[in-house]
Amino acid sequence: MKIKILKGTNQIGGCITEIGTNNAKIIIDFGEDLPDVSIKENNNVPLIEGLTYGPKKYDAVFITHNHQDHIGLISSILSEIPVYVEKTSKEIFNVVNDFMGIRETCRTINMLAEIPVTIEDIKITPYIVDHSAYNSLMLLIESGGKKVLHTGDFRNNGYKGKYLKDTLKKIGKVDVVITEGTSFDRINKENMTEEELSKEAYEVMKKYNQIFVLQSGTNIDRITTMYKASKKARKLFVEDIFIANLTKLTKSSIPNPLTFEDVYTYIPLKRYINKDSEFYYKYIEPFNKKNAITKMFNNDYVLNVRTSMINDLKKFKDKGLITNACLIYSMWDGYLKKAEFKKFLKEVKELGIDIVYLHTSGHACINTIKEMVNILKPKIVIPIHTTNKMKAKEIFKNSVILNDNEGVEI
Ligand SMILES: [Zn+2]
Ligand SMILES: [Zn+2]
Repeated sequence: MKIKILKGTNQIGGCITEIGTNNAKIIIDFGEDLPDVSIKENNNVPLIEGLTYGPKKYDAVFITHNHQDHIGLISSILSEIPVYVEKTSKEIFNVVNDFMGIRETCRTINMLAEIPVTIEDIKITPYIVDHSAYNSLMLLIESGGKKVLHTGDFRNNGYKGKYLKDTLKKIGKVDVVITEGTSFDRINKENMTEEELSKEAYEVMKKYNQIFVLQSGTNIDRITTMYKASKKARKLFVEDIFIANLTKLTKSSIPNPLTFEDVYTYIPLKRYINKDSEFYYKYIEPFNKKNAITKMFNNDYVLNVRTSMINDLKKFKDKGLITNACLIYSMWDGYLKKAEFKKFLKEVKELGIDIVYLHTSGHACINTIKEMVNILKPKIVIPIHTTNKMKAKEIFKNSVILNDNEGVEI
């Protein structure tokens, strides 16, 4: 097998990995650069011959998870190349696109956990792994008796973290690990778990009457974390209509207005009344009975917000619905570089709402990466998705440090 990192040896996000044999060639992940890499709001799509233009040279693309930095550019893949995405992960991505008004053109095929896909002489087996995106995957790639594990993004401090070791043991010994190294430029300390974060959120929530949570809608673990804290603090838990539609796609253990008695939704009806009826019946109508608007006048509440909801917050203020409020900023601080977030937080402050930062990483700390490598015992470790790849040299004697467009053959 030939492994080549087309992009992402020196940046977090936007990583593209090529793996090929004499018979087939696949790509793993095709997403956007994160805002700290490219301050430009519009990402340039990397032009890759045979993938985005010209006669096709690749047989398939595999996506590890639905974060924009891994899946965000799949629409620019040649339509004759199939794109494999985990089933629920893809459904979540579709809802995100529908809400953003994006129509996608590529041909996707569902992947299911631990069901292998075969592309000529390459076998790809997806394993569900803990990360801040629901049903994220590690991919085991096998060909000619060799095994390569691509970790995607992963961690063990979320609700699925307890399964990581068992999953790795199931995968067993491999020849190569291509690992994310997001935490290589951070101080080596254990990440706070989602459980611990929930306790901190409770401490914040009990001090306020109205709590707004700004988080990534696709970070399903975090929704559970905030729900637990809200319940303990005896607040009404309200998911905005976007998040309500995302949690609807997940397992029944995830808080959702349709399956949880005590979870409500906030529907800014005026905004959606002009949407076409298909959108309305698909995304709004099912939640009408759980609309929290009147309940919010009589209760303390926790409400998920998005930057596009600033006018809703202003309206709440005018109606006396904001008296002693805070906004919990619960996402990566790198997004603060985006003009959209800066403006939102400034306006939130002007409404007299306190801002509290509460977050924990979606990425494995160095010790967890070491533990992973100890179990898999690879001959070679290749770091990607990092701004400090040389750290891998310090940690692993057998690391191979690549530049973009460089590769190894095994
Ligand atoms: Zn990533
Ligand atoms: Zn990710």
